[in-house]
Amino acid sequence: MTSTLLIGDSKIDVKVESGEMKLSHTELLHWVQSAAEAVATYYGRYPVPRVQIRIIPVDGSGVRHGQTFGYDGGLIKIRVGKQTQAVELANDWMLTHEMVHLSFPSMADEHHWIEEGIAVYVEPIARIHAKQMSAEQMWADLMRDMPKGLPQEGDRGLDHTHSWGRTYWGGALFCFVADVEIRKQTHNQKGLQDALRGILEAGGDITHDWELAQALKNGDQMTGTTVLSDLYSKWKDKPVNVDLASLWKELGIAADGKSVRLAEDAPMAAMRRAITAPRASKQAEAVSPSAVFAGRSVAGSRSRL
Ligand SMILES: [Zn+2]
Repeated sequence: MTSTLLIGDSKIDVKVESGEMKLSHTELLHWVQSAAEAVATYYGRYPVPRVQIRIIPVDGSGVRHGQTFGYDGGLIKIRVGKQTQAVELANDWMLTHEMVHLSFPSMADEHHWIEEGIAVYVEPIARIHAKQMSAEQMWADLMRDMPKGLPQEGDRGLDHTHSWGRTYWGGALFCFVADVEIRKQTHNQKGLQDALRGILEAGGDITHDWELAQALKNGDQMTGTTVLSDLYSKWKDKPVNVDLASLWKELGIAADGKSVRLAEDAPMAAMRRAITAPRASKQAEAVSPSAVFAGRSVAGSRSRL
């Protein structure tokens, strides 16, 4: 079964491969739409004009495995357990993660960490901006998981250390440190989101192969800083430690069991709030109302969700 969702000017073709599933087609489409809206809210628009989402039913429960490709304008394959329930889709992060990959140019293998790092760091923020997740949840998750991105013994920098931790969380740590540094240098007027939107607006989506240095330069131009280029030159060939404990403290984030307590009087509390505050832009406001669901499987009717 194939349906098409419209998010702004972008067409999202959703193809569900054959296999009995507990989830209805409408529930699957709602899941795709929520992920698409989160990404479109963060970037101001959906990253590519057309993409195909191929949902592959597999044994078991839950969203299992996603992959994103740059060919044919963009293709995401994602495996969903046949026993999956709608509530599991509501808490899913994986499809949003895959869709974030559409928003950044394809890199050479040694820079895979930046592709994964952006997807890991942006995914929860995009879902918070779209009111699908709380900021407390994201900070609790980052406090627990960011240490996995720190350099371990024998590390040779992000371009030369291809472990799982350094690829996913090392890349996310790069994004987080860059976000904070851009905010410091711009009196909290700009952040990583501005840089990433700039790269996308310069044409850097997944269908194009770019040099990393060029992408970072485009991002820096949007913030009027050299934060991304400077951080990359420091981190690419050697291990650089980050004092996470001090960062959490300055941002006003304290562990509280499995959750966190957020302090509003911390020195960088305003930066922390700015990271998770949706951007008030005309484009972002236009995303949600213009999301139209045009399902060919639903009696050929066009209905607004
Ligand atoms: Zn990924």
